[in-house]
Amino acid sequence: MTPPTLDDDALAAAGRVDRDRLWQRLMEIARFGATGRGGVNRQAFSAEDAAARRQMADWAASLGLHCLTDRIGNLYLRRPGRDPEAAPVMTGSHLDSQPTGGKFDGAYGVIAGLEALQAIAQAGLETARPIELVAWSNEEGSRFQPGCMGSGVFAGEMALADLLPLVDAEGISVEAALAGLFEATPGLPARPAAAPAAYIEAHIEQGPILEREGRTIGVVGGVQGMRWLTVEVTGEAAHAGTTPRAARRDALKAATRMVVALEAAFAEADPEDILRFTVGRFEVEPNSPNTVPARVFFTIDFRHPEAAAIEDLCGRIEGICRAQAQGCPVTVTTISGLPPCVFDPAVVATVRGAAERLALSHRDIMSGAGHDAMNLARLCPTGMIFVPCEAGVSHNEAENATPDDLAAGTRVLAASLVALANR
Ligand SMILES: [Zn+2]
Repeated sequence: MTPPTLDDDALAAAGRVDRDRLWQRLMEIARFGATGRGGVNRQAFSAEDAAARRQMADWAASLGLHCLTDRIGNLYLRRPGRDPEAAPVMTGSHLDSQPTGGKFDGAYGVIAGLEALQAIAQAGLETARPIELVAWSNEEGSRFQPGCMGSGVFAGEMALADLLPLVDAEGISVEAALAGLFEATPGLPARPAAAPAAYIEAHIEQGPILEREGRTIGVVGGVQGMRWLTVEVTGEAAHAGTTPRAARRDALKAATRMVVALEAAFAEADPEDILRFTVGRFEVEPNSPNTVPARVFFTIDFRHPEAAAIEDLCGRIEGICRAQAQGCPVTVTTISGLPPCVFDPAVVATVRGAAERLALSHRDIMSGAGHDAMNLARLCPTGMIFVPCEAGVSHNEAENATPDDLAAGTRVLAASLVALANR
């Protein structure tokens, strides 16, 4: 599609965004599951999650929005358009958090959407298409895996029947936990199936780039791809006191040389510091102070925005490891991967255009973290708006963002929604 025009209506909606009201609601939602250290513990389908949902339904009622749900517990707040048959434009994010999460990851996109809908109403606008705000179920995946369940079911990427029997660490099933969620907001009608015309999600960056560069808006072009690999190095256990150097096959020495060589090769291949290479698990056997290590196992988490770079650089891993193996057999295995997600150019251009019209400093950016928007991107033209967060910190109780930046992102959201809903 071609990018819609950002006309006076779009600007009028942005002008009605109320920074203090937005902040107030964010703080109110943060009370549900508030931790002693300024964060939140509001895991999916918990009593706290249900209470936040109840609050959203109350706000919806006070603003005259229609509240709907579905069987995975997504909550939809719908503002009608002139053409009731038209496919809706959607915005939203998630209300669930990590066990030691912050006030803004997810909640910002939901509350920003609510503020945008209120601003559009206060500007006296009627859009051609309906606009729907959605709070997606279980994005974080900390209590029930996998994450992004709500958007996954909505986009047809996951089957509800496969998810309902899954259990948390206490043995409580998704189905049982969902019942508690539905009790908090009884009698909500089911959302009639209708694919969205477009989707935009506002989110804190969860990285340091915008803050470092002093920019307010991240125009998100997509989500980087990732690949997980494991490396197993087999040595030979031997007595630490009696075995001379030449007679050893030390799996740990070989493995550490591999990690150092991989770091060096990727630093050279990536002078702009785009790829993310992490060895996060490292296991040594028999893990005994006086035995030469017989086996080492380590993981590689590899992320990059370009599919070709993932292919090329991950393809070098095995050769680099073999070159450092010092006679130890080595097995490199790819265990999972996700290709980069590229957002719709017209939606991305809409977000960029809105930031420009509103005279907000901005830059194009790729998301390092996964989001519900990745599932929506398979269904409809999709984009995201990032705002800075303090020191790039998230998934942490210290997560923080400024009221001004949060309001700026919401103004871009409101203008973009009006533009998309009128095309
Ligand atoms: Zn999030």
